[in-house]
Amino acid sequence: MTTAKTPTLLPQTELYERLCRLFHENRLPSSLLFAGKKGVGKWAVANLLARTITCQNPADNFCGECASCRQADSFCHPDIYYLVPLPKEKKEKDKEEDWFDKRLITYLQKKASGPFSDASEDVTSFITIDNIRKFQSNLSRHPSLSKFKVGIIYEAERMLPATMDSLLKTLEEPPRDSFLIVCTDQPRFLLATIRSRLQRVSFPALESKFVELYLQQNFEIPEKEIGVVTRFAAGALYNVEQLVEKAFFDARETAFDLLTNAVTMPASDLVVKCSGNVALENREKVERLLIHWQSMLRDLMVINALPLQTGIDPSQALVNFDYADRYLEHRERFASLQRVEQQIEKLEQVRSELRRNVNPKMAAISFLVGLNQPGSPPKA
Ligand SMILES: [Zn+2]
Repeated sequence: MTTAKTPTLLPQTELYERLCRLFHENRLPSSLLFAGKKGVGKWAVANLLARTITCQNPADNFCGECASCRQADSFCHPDIYYLVPLPKEKKEKDKEEDWFDKRLITYLQKKASGPFSDASEDVTSFITIDNIRKFQSNLSRHPSLSKFKVGIIYEAERMLPATMDSLLKTLEEPPRDSFLIVCTDQPRFLLATIRSRLQRVSFPALESKFVELYLQQNFEIPEKEIGVVTRFAAGALYNVEQLVEKAFFDARETAFDLLTNAVTMPASDLVVKCSGNVALENREKVERLLIHWQSMLRDLMVINALPLQTGIDPSQALVNFDYADRYLEHRERFASLQRVEQQIEKLEQVRSELRRNVNPKMAAISFLVGLNQPGSPPKA
């Protein structure tokens, strides 16, 4: 079905092709739930499917050339509607007629530049009853360019209770010639009555091959870093922009140094060393270190599980596979890290402390000192 005109790099091709087949065989359910964790391609597939459904050249999945495909490309298709979380109007003048459209365009543009990442402006962005009313009135119109209309609801878990009630009515009496695609990474937040009226499509993790190619095509980073980011991403490209930044790799170095210090230095020296460390000066930086400590502690679980005289190459199983030699160099010290699983749990505690505005440096120091407390074998 796919033609040479189809862009070569599409996520979840198998799943997408399956949906296309159902559509061409007139068996595609009109109300779909795209469920899967953040960054696995729900947005991309929803848009590809919308294109397939509206394309004026039905021989292909989508032709990429007809008026419908061109308008879908620039998010201005008259028969494709979006319902996404938007920030609350702050002032009276925000209630102007085009307020909704302007914010929606901003959201769509953000999604266009980072299809795997969040586009909500902040945590106070919700899908309100006003938002869904406009969406519903659009969906109830006759299609103007294509044979069908498509409504895409994204980050559906951000629907307010009244919005969900309103959506339920649409699901009970779906508008003619229309398809509805509801996307969320938190299906449990939707009303059970909504979930039961949607045909669930579960999104698996992205294949590492796709992640690698995506990184190669979209970012200028060295091959070795592509390998590391691919393992970090673990099949989801959510916020991948942050993973490819230099700051991410710098923080990884710092995280490893501090981890090594924590198992080699007396606590008092460690505290002195950390006190002046700029990498611990704010919450954002410490949160970044936590991500690395988590992956490193998982790596150490792998290393610790290996028999001492082993010919096995541990790098295959490590996230930070390029650190394999460095882990092994400090292997005995790291082996003294008791109960690595518990240390990983402690990272969760530090995370929640940070959310409660605990001093980030103090939280990080206390975690590091705790790594080498009594209970561990005595230092050499
Ligand atoms: Zn077309």
